[in-house]
Amino acid sequence: KVPPNLTNEAVKDFSFKDQKEWDLLRASITKFTDEATEIPLVIGGKKIFRTDTKTQVNPAKHSQVLANISQATQEDVLSAIEAAKSAKAKWASMPWTDRAAIFLKAADLISTKYRYDLLAATMLGQGKNVYQAEIDSIAELIDFFKYNAKYAEELYQQQPVATSPGVWNRAEYRPLEGFVYAVTPFNFTAIAANLFGAPALMGNTVVWKPSATAALSNYVLLSILEEAGLPAGVVNFIPGDPVEVTDIVLADKEFAALHFTGSTQVFKNLYAKISNNVAADVYRDYPRIVGETGGKNFHLIHSSASLDHAVLSSVRGAFEYQGQKCSALSRLYVPESIWPEFKQKFVETTTQIQIGNTSAPESLNAFMGPVIHEQSYNKLSAALEQAKSDPELEVIVGGSHDNSSGFFIQPTLIQTTNPNHEFLSKEFFGPILTVYVYPDSEYSEIIKSIDSVTQYGLTGSIFARDREAVRLAEENLRYAAGNFYINDKSTGAVVGQQWFGGARASGTNDKAGSGNILNRFVSVRNIKENF
Ligand code: GLU
Repeated sequence: KVPPNLTNEAVKDFSFKDQKEWDLLRASITKFTDEATEIPLVIGGKKIFRTDTKTQVNPAKHSQVLANISQATQEDVLSAIEAAKSAKAKWASMPWTDRAAIFLKAADLISTKYRYDLLAATMLGQGKNVYQAEIDSIAELIDFFKYNAKYAEELYQQQPVATSPGVWNRAEYRPLEGFVYAVTPFNFTAIAANLFGAPALMGNTVVWKPSATAALSNYVLLSILEEAGLPAGVVNFIPGDPVEVTDIVLADKEFAALHFTGSTQVFKNLYAKISNNVAADVYRDYPRIVGETGGKNFHLIHSSASLDHAVLSSVRGAFEYQGQKCSALSRLYVPESIWPEFKQKFVETTTQIQIGNTSAPESLNAFMGPVIHEQSYNKLSAALEQAKSDPELEVIVGGSHDNSSGFFIQPTLIQTTNPNHEFLSKEFFGPILTVYVYPDSEYSEIIKSIDSVTQYGLTGSIFARDREAVRLAEENLRYAAGNFYINDKSTGAVVGQQWFGGARASGTNDKAGSGNILNRFVSVRNIKENF
């Protein structure tokens, strides 16, 4: 039963006050670092180990292997699809409250029994500090399971509202006919949970391809769900080569939906493949395509803004979790009149940021850890080098990088003199923030530029005390952000409070953390009965 007075899961205060908590966390960290975890495929409830493995390393210490991840063969992918199909009828015919009970039980197990394991796996594998791991793999994850159950309860009650004598109309919320393919990202354990959890709650079975750089936490999560009673075959876990796995899955007649979070380019590729297959009559249904992709998120600072608040929010929005949130701030607009003071405070704050191995005892609480992998490090360090030689760019603070032991990129602010510079339109997915300083008198023009300079539309914020400035931004940036913040940073949407997602190149805007997402995984049948 969904708790009647549902509230968001409280974020635990990890401020070193309670030694017992740290001991528990350390014990979980040690468990995962003492010995690499062998991660199997999980198909139809069976663990399958393959000799072809891929390693997951600690991005803060790349010599440390955390896991050897079995890689799915072509046959494994086909078996995962078959397992999803055969588990379907029973799962779909269960009362939805029984399905919800499994997710609520998992939420409870996470909060009471596996909190430290899930935190440690997320911190080590995904390079999060304890606070970032807590808000993701504990609080947001639990919230997804609880609020999805609440939204399902509301959805199943929705029935046709008009009536006529002698007629009974009803809506039946069928799961999709076929199976759902969940392709999940490295940056949030909670997002992985929602990408398979939301469709499964609605009676669908799932083939799940996790990210290779989040396999450890994702596998821990799946094991918790199994303990909570998730039946075999409902969620089939197949790490493997992304293109190979995807091509096999998308070639199946019963592929019914894609639930995706990841890069814009990959999403476009999948969208195109699905469209081609639709044209070639591969599928029974038109597959549902639900995707959340990149962003080039903005903070627009007005001269009336509270300066300290705008500076701190910008530092947090851009650099928390190394800027590896789709919602991370990556372009900043500051008026000339306050720029000198803003810049000074921003530099002061950023210089104090501690960066380190956020799962090592000495730097558990460092504000920033590493970026996720070598590919990302190379892309970001190349951007920093470009910034040093491009005459339209100037590094204000940061700019260095070091991959000798882990993939570390310094938090960096770059100023550009060109409002159309690619640093204001291209996503880097790391701790690189670009600022453009605009003449105070050109507030309306800068709003137009914010709206048009990039193809993305995920998140954005206005910082102002002046209501007219707020109104202008809110009205004229209607499609520039699916999550628009007034006097708050562009990150940190809370399930049930800020429905999350954006349009344009940022995704299908089906709003994670809202009831809307559940609608995408049901296919309604209307029944009219005369009596
Ligand atoms: N929901 C997260 C936030 O608001 C971001 C999710 C993502 O990175 O995809 O910060």
